[in-house]
Amino acid sequence: MPKRYLIVGAGFSGCVLANRLSALQNCTIDIWESRDHIGGNCHSSRDAETGIMIHHYGPHIFNTSKKEIWDFVNQFGELRPYVHRVKAVSKGKVYPLPVNLATINQFFNKNFSPEEAKEFIAEMGDNSIQNPKNFEEQALKFIGKDLYQAFFYGYTKKQWGCEPSALPASILKRLPVRFNYDDNYHNSIYTGIPVDGYSAVMEKMISGDGINLYLNKPFVPNTEEQQHYDHVFYSGPLDAFYQYRLGRLGYRTVRFEKYEALGDFQGTTQMNYCDETIPYTRIAEHKHFTPWEQHKKTVYFKEYSMETGPQDVPYYPKRLSADKNMLMDYRKLAENETRVSFLGRLATYRYMDMQHVIEEAIEFARNFVNRQQEGLILPVFPNEEPS
Ligand code: UDP
Repeated sequence: MPKRYLIVGAGFSGCVLANRLSALQNCTIDIWESRDHIGGNCHSSRDAETGIMIHHYGPHIFNTSKKEIWDFVNQFGELRPYVHRVKAVSKGKVYPLPVNLATINQFFNKNFSPEEAKEFIAEMGDNSIQNPKNFEEQALKFIGKDLYQAFFYGYTKKQWGCEPSALPASILKRLPVRFNYDDNYHNSIYTGIPVDGYSAVMEKMISGDGINLYLNKPFVPNTEEQQHYDHVFYSGPLDAFYQYRLGRLGYRTVRFEKYEALGDFQGTTQMNYCDETIPYTRIAEHKHFTPWEQHKKTVYFKEYSMETGPQDVPYYPKRLSADKNMLMDYRKLAENETRVSFLGRLATYRYMDMQHVIEEAIEFARNFVNRQQEGLILPVFPNEEPS
């Protein structure tokens, strides 16, 4: 008998998992998606008015240094090379991000060589901090107070709604600091944008026989309908699965303000606004993500970061210490499940990039099928959560 699986959520986790499970074994898969579209928060489609490819939940740039992940995604639609170059406005001046030699020289009005800049920034750093325990300490130790205040303090406070000292250092470690003129936002070997958008890639992933997608179909745990499946793979928010019985995990959400204009509004895809006095965090102008296309009009979005209310889409897991305690309690509940597994950004409550989500889903499918074949206990989570 083919196994019958239910996958909850049609984002990258759910779609990659469906693709891999159906490649590895004889099974039928239903995917239930509560929204009216596939793609999760990576959903992109063409704007009806201008034809520009819109990333509906904010800019997504696919990047990885693993050739097998790049090749895997490319099977489902062409990714065209695109290098993300971000600009940042601080006190009315525009600088390149991530912080690189151009940023340092412009900001301090110098003409440093790489070695001189390295020495200069090392002197600016706070050496009394041995092991940075949070975002602020990480910044003060490695780039010093001036650059921290100009580019990180205000932006981070707006983005996360709290003092950067309350946030983990890992958030800052996402961004490189370079002592050359390389202003590629990512360190990855491969970076690109799907020519037909992310949702088209995911549609192709789940186009095989035996996979059925149901849109506008929310998941309610422990219903009779769920009993028809041998196993449920859940990629929604972990706290929602347990109907918030231990409380709500903290997320930031984003409100987008859409604008249309003629020509070119800001000359680049992403302009960050680092001053606290400007209420939005960044402006993304989407036609620049596809420089191979021509558009007379332009569409851009101002992003406002906010606390997540019960009806809002969760974006960024805050992972403050109270959240992490609650997460551990939810994970203890989940560990008792025998016919449910949890994976992806929302179900594991982690700040994940697309490449990590995809890699983890590929690995999870393999592990799940192997363990099933060997009659072992099935995995509940793809990851360990350090206590
Ligand atoms: N960040 C900042 N200033 C910037 C850009 C980023 O302080 O101009 C900080 C901020 O805390 C942010 C984090 O670095 O949440 C990670 O930035 P990234 O661009 O990776 O965020 P994403 O694109 O995922 O929103």
